[in-house]
Amino acid sequence: MMKIGIVDADLLGHGTRHPNIALMKISAYKKAAGHTVQLVKSYEELGLDFTAGFFSPGEVIGLYDEIYLGKVFTFTPIPPGITAGKNVIYGGTGFLPEECPDLAYEVEHHRPDYHLYDDYVRQEIARGLKKNRFADYMEYSIGFATRGCFRKCAFCVNKKYDKVFFHAPVKEFFDPSRKYIYLWDDNILGYEKWRHVFDELEEIGRPFQFRQGMDMRLMTEERAAVISRARYRGDYIFAFDHLKDRELIENRLKIWKKYCTGTTKLYILCGFESQDAQDIEGVFERIAILMRYRCLPYIMRYDAYKTSEWRGIYINLARWCNQPNFFKKKSFREYCEVNGGGSSTMRYLQDFEKKYPRIARKYFDLKYEAAPICF
Ligand code: SF4
Repeated sequence: MMKIGIVDADLLGHGTRHPNIALMKISAYKKAAGHTVQLVKSYEELGLDFTAGFFSPGEVIGLYDEIYLGKVFTFTPIPPGITAGKNVIYGGTGFLPEECPDLAYEVEHHRPDYHLYDDYVRQEIARGLKKNRFADYMEYSIGFATRGCFRKCAFCVNKKYDKVFFHAPVKEFFDPSRKYIYLWDDNILGYEKWRHVFDELEEIGRPFQFRQGMDMRLMTEERAAVISRARYRGDYIFAFDHLKDRELIENRLKIWKKYCTGTTKLYILCGFESQDAQDIEGVFERIAILMRYRCLPYIMRYDAYKTSEWRGIYINLARWCNQPNFFKKKSFREYCEVNGGGSSTMRYLQDFEKKYPRIARKYFDLKYEAAPICF
């Protein structure tokens, strides 16, 4: 029997709120084989000083026979050299794909260990954090019904496959003791037999959500009817990444709005194609379109926005749009004014307006509630 340590590097690095599904599967698989499995709660627990520097390749790290280290985000820091440890097996989208093999089939298709994070959650609640912060750890069955996406968007990590394909029945990861289900599918509507997945979810009967959002460009009458009838939990989330898709997105929103009265959000990618006034105008134009369909924008800033002369405008846009209470009641200008005349928020607005009065005139005073309805 081995002693196995599980390191969720995103959790240790910056306190993600998402459990790592691959690590949960490894944990369940190893426990079923009779091994002792523990979530590692700090690098010190492994006997590592995070700042100490490099480890010798081949060194055995900590008191575990095997350490499984996973990370989803490339920016998550890990102790230098830890992946060269003799007993360390690592993986996840936070590493280069060629660095890490996929999980073995029998691990990938094992029901996740929904108790891997129990001690961690108890500890965090005991130190005063609110229970609902840990809903993802405690209330959801989690998994993928399909994998892959055919679109290969330049900014997306999902470029490994050319199509959407079946991964597993929802029942494979469904835990009846959990109230809800969330799915990490990359592009559920791009799956030829998408309806089978929705039929299975209907049969299971638990409220569910697709965390990666769905592809509005693939909306049809049938899909809109099925999705809007389903026990969908929370806001419906889609994406409107590029202004060039406006005609298609508007056509699909017209279909969607015939069926759905629930809150609909669309991710607005910015700072990716460029980081200048043209990009900012594209963001405002997409926001203006969504206002007319009574949809909410959610600003997703590509990291390169930080290099922009208009970094402050990107920040203002995200703060305005990503807080629906502000967005629904106030124009962009009114939102900035709330922060006070001498604030940096106002200074960003004034500097931009001075240089680009046409863009400011066209968009700064638009209001969600006053926008003409288009559906
Ligand atoms: S549609 Fe979504 S999942 Fe597919 S490549 Fe684009 S961003 Fe990634």
